[in-house]
Amino acid sequence: MIPISTVRLGDDVAERVLEVIRSGIIAQGPVVAEFEREFATLQQVEHAVAVNNGTTALVASLEVLDLEEGDEVVTTPFTFAATLNAILEAGATVRFADIRLDDYCIDPESISARLTDRTRVVMPVHLYGQAADMAPIAQIAASRGLSIVEDAAQAHGATYGGAPVGGFGLAGFSFYATKNLTTGEGGMITTNDGELADKLRILRNQGMRARYEYVMAGHNYRLTDLAAAVVLPQLATYADQLAARRRNAAGLIERLGEVDGLVLPQELPGREHVWHQFTVLLPDGTDRAAFVDRLTAAGVGSGIYYPRLVHDYGVYRKDPRVVIEETPNAALVASRCLSLPVHAGVTEADLDVIASAVREAVEAR
Ligand SMILES: *Cc1c(COP(=O)(O)O)cnc(C)c1O
Repeated sequence: MIPISTVRLGDDVAERVLEVIRSGIIAQGPVVAEFEREFATLQQVEHAVAVNNGTTALVASLEVLDLEEGDEVVTTPFTFAATLNAILEAGATVRFADIRLDDYCIDPESISARLTDRTRVVMPVHLYGQAADMAPIAQIAASRGLSIVEDAAQAHGATYGGAPVGGFGLAGFSFYATKNLTTGEGGMITTNDGELADKLRILRNQGMRARYEYVMAGHNYRLTDLAAAVVLPQLATYADQLAARRRNAAGLIERLGEVDGLVLPQELPGREHVWHQFTVLLPDGTDRAAFVDRLTAAGVGSGIYYPRLVHDYGVYRKDPRVVIEETPNAALVASRCLSLPVHAGVTEADLDVIASAVREAVEAR
C-alpha cells in the first residue's frame, strides 16, 4: 500500500530527543528557543513563537488582536475544522468567502463582498501548501484597517511573490504528525510585529512577563523541548524533502495530464507550492467512494480533504456566530476533491502505480 502520508523519523531525531532527556530540561527551554530561531529563518520573519499545536497558534493570534463580541473574521469554508473552531474559541463571528478554482484558496473578490462594519480580521488558508493570493488580500486589509491571520498550517516554506508566507500579519503553523514538518503535536506563530510577538510570549505562559509578574490573564500554550527536538533534524533537511515533493507532483502531473475530465492541481506563477497535498478533482459525476475503493484495491492510499464545507455540520448550524452564505466554488470542489500520495516517501515506481490506478478508476467509473 502506498500511504497518503507517512511519519519517518531517523536516528538523528532519536539522538536529539535523548539529549533533551539527559539534559533534565524537558518542558519549554533552550531547544524550543532554537526551534523558534530556525523557523523564523525559514519563514524569513522577525519573530516566531512556539505553542503546543496549530489550532492554539490560530487562537492565540486572534486573542492578541483583542476582538470583541460581534467582531467578524472572514475566512474560507474549504478548510479543516481547526480554522473555524479557532475563530469561535476566540469569541468572534465568522463569515465565509468563496474560493478560487485555480488555487482552492479564498477569493479576494469574495472577501470584499463579505466585509461589514464589524469585520476585523481576514483569515486566508494556504491550502494544500500553496499560498492564497496575498497581494490583493493585503491591499483589502490595508485599505480597511483589518488584521491578517494566515492559516499556514499546511504551508511551511511556501512562498508568495518570492518571499515565504507568514509575514503578512500573524500566521499560525502546525507541526502535527502528518504535516510537512512535525513535532507530533506543535504549533508556531510568526510575525514581523514585535509588540504582538511579545504579547504572544506572555499569553502562552499564564500571562507572566517574568516569574509571578502577571500582566494579563493567560494560558498554558507552551511547547516542550522534547517535541522541539523532534523537528530540528527535519529542518536541516527540509529543502531535500521539498525537492522530493516537487518532483513527485511534477511526475503525477506528467502522468495524469491526459486523463479525461480529471482536473489537476496547478502551481501558480510567483508562488512556490510545498505540496502538502496533491489534490485532483474527479470527473463530474464520479462516485467518489467507489473511486477510493478502486484505488485502495490497487494499493494506492488517498484522502478527501475536505468532503464537506467546514460549517456543513449540525454542531455549527444553530450558532449565530457562524454566518453562512453561498460559496458555489467551494461546494463544487468539496464534492469532487481527492488527494493522492505526494510525500517524500513516494518513489518513481510508486508514481507509475498511482497514475495507472487513477487512470483505470476513471475508465471504470
Ligand atoms: C492541521 C491544520 C490546523 C490545525 O493544526 P493542529 O496542529 O492539528 O492543531 C489548522 N488549519 C489547517 C488548515 C490544518 O491543516
